[in-house]
Formats: sequence, C-alpha cells, structure tokens
Amino acid sequence: MAYALASRIERAVKKSGLKVVWVAGWKSRGRATMGTIQTITLHHTATPRSFKKSTEYPTLNVIKNGRTGLPGPLAQLGLGRTGVVYVVAAGRANHAGVSRATSMTNSHAIGIEAEGAMEAWPTAQYQAYLRLVRALIDEFDLGTSRALRHGETCSPPGRKTDASFSGPAFRNALATIKTGSKPANTQPDTPAKPKGLFGMALKTADSRTEKQKIGKGKEITLRTREKNTNKFLCSVKKGELILVDEHLRISGLREGQIAEVWLRIGEYVAKTKKGYTRYNYPRVTAHGRAGGGDAHVAIPLVDKVGIGPKHGGDLRIYVVVKNVSGDECVVEYTKHHVLAD
Ligand SMILES: [Zn+2]
Repeated sequence: MAYALASRIERAVKKSGLKVVWVAGWKSRGRATMGTIQTITLHHTATPRSFKKSTEYPTLNVIKNGRTGLPGPLAQLGLGRTGVVYVVAAGRANHAGVSRATSMTNSHAIGIEAEGAMEAWPTAQYQAYLRLVRALIDEFDLGTSRALRHGETCSPPGRKTDASFSGPAFRNALATIKTGSKPANTQPDTPAKPKGLFGMALKTADSRTEKQKIGKGKEITLRTREKNTNKFLCSVKKGELILVDEHLRISGLREGQIAEVWLRIGEYVAKTKKGYTRYNYPRVTAHGRAGGGDAHVAIPLVDKVGIGPKHGGDLRIYVVVKNVSGDECVVEYTKHHVLAD
C-alpha cells in the first residue's frame, strides 16, 4: 500500500523542476510510516570514483534494496551525477543511524543520497541538490536550517562525514532560491575537506564487501573495493597520525580452528612493482565457533606512523589475514575506515 507521504514527496519533486526517475514501487517502499518530517538529511553515497565512473547513479540498487546488515531502502531520494532525481521510497528509510536529536532520526528525516565519492561536485548535481532540497523544505514547511548534512546530524560527532560540502554554504545558497527556480549561486561549492573524528580527515571508507578465499596455512592481503583491485587500504606518510577501524567477517572456521588478522605497513615501489613488509602490528585471533557461525573481528588502531620509505616507494597500510588451521576460510570486510591527520 502506498504511504501517505508519497503524495507530498511527489508534489515536491515535481515542483523542483528536475528530471525524475520514479523507481517502480516507490510509493509503497519503506520500513514503516514516518512521523512528522522535521529534517532533510544530505548524504553522498561514497561509491568509489573508479566504480562505474561513467554511470549516473550506480548505487541505485543498494539504496533501494539495502546491503549486508542494513535492509533497504537506504534513502527516500537519490540524486545522480547529472542531477537526475531518483524517487526510491515514501516510507521510513535506513539512512540516519544514531542521531543527535529525535528530529534527525529515520522517523523524522527524509534522506537524499547523492552519488559521489568526495570528488568535486559536478555543477549540475550540486544545483539540483539545492533545488530538490528547496522544494522539500517548502513542501514540509521547514526552514533552511533543517537541511543538514549527515555529518551534522550523526551521533557521536564524526561518525559520518557526508555530504562533502560546507553545510552553512549550502544553506546560504538555499535561502537565495525559490522552488523550481535556478539557484543564484551557479557554481558548486568547493568541497570541504571532510573531517572525521578528532578533526581528522577521512582517508578511506567503504562498507561494501568482497569475499576472498584463503586455503589452509595461507596468508593474504585483503583487497578493498575502493579501487577494486588494490590490496591495501590507503597510502600513509611518516609522522602521520592514523586511525584505522577495520571489521571483518570470517566464515568456514570450525570450532578450535583459528585465523589471524593484523595490520601491516608495507612499502610499494611502483617502478619495480616490488613490495616490502616494513612493520607488522600485533595479531588478533579469530576463533571458529561451535555450530559453524561466522567469526567477526575488529581491528582498531590509533598510531603515529614512525617509519619512512626505505626503497623510494610509497608506504601503504594492508590488512593481512592468515588461515592458521582452518580447512578453507572466506574473509570479507564488513566495514573499513581510515582517518588521518
Ligand atoms: Zn550518510
């Protein structure tokens, strides 16, 4: 059955004057009926640039259907790189998470997921973002102050950093436009350097998973989906303060079998394509569980990088997994996150 909110979302989106894709089933898609709308939450998808770069809205299916551990819809509205609006849901969506105030939670906040990976915002997309939000705040009779970046609504502060532009600049621009009109500010705002926990900049974050098999006794460095094929999290420099938060799921270990997981600083020399292990952080042990359930491992780290390159290469952080005694195990990321300063 269609949610009551559908007619208001439809009216607002039409008034925005933007190109629209009405995603089949949107009127009845949602987790539940929403309460009074009090916030418009601005997100970006953080889909890596290299992931179907040319595609307008490659994250649509994830927003619609959800991902491992988080059922969809993940927003009511999507916004493609060329400024096309994707209307996905009219009921409650899982986009806010733990929030600073009730008015910012999923029951009271409409979420917009704009395609982007912290690249410079395309002018058309940023302008469309403004027009869409203007139409929504008009429809729901909200002040411009109720258009908030996810980074401004999340709790604890720093848990999220999207959308990667300045909130005050966005709201100032919002105040200059009327529903359906073109924003006076025709240039996209310069993306603010996203700041995470303790004011540290986000180096890499990805919650998508890729399964990798590891044979008995074998050791691998985990691939991230960020750059599709790269087997490291990110590059680091000597003296840099890093905060790493990696979560992994390991399946296939039986009771009594173990795998080990650790972070490694390696040096990669592009010229010779040679890699050198420079430092191994302490290992964390994952134990197989009775009944064959998955093992979950978290490897948090706060550290100042104390070494520099020795071979003229690039220092990189790797996640290493060794299947110590399992027959074969399968590892996947459930989350990875690196901040640096
Ligand atoms: Zn978000």
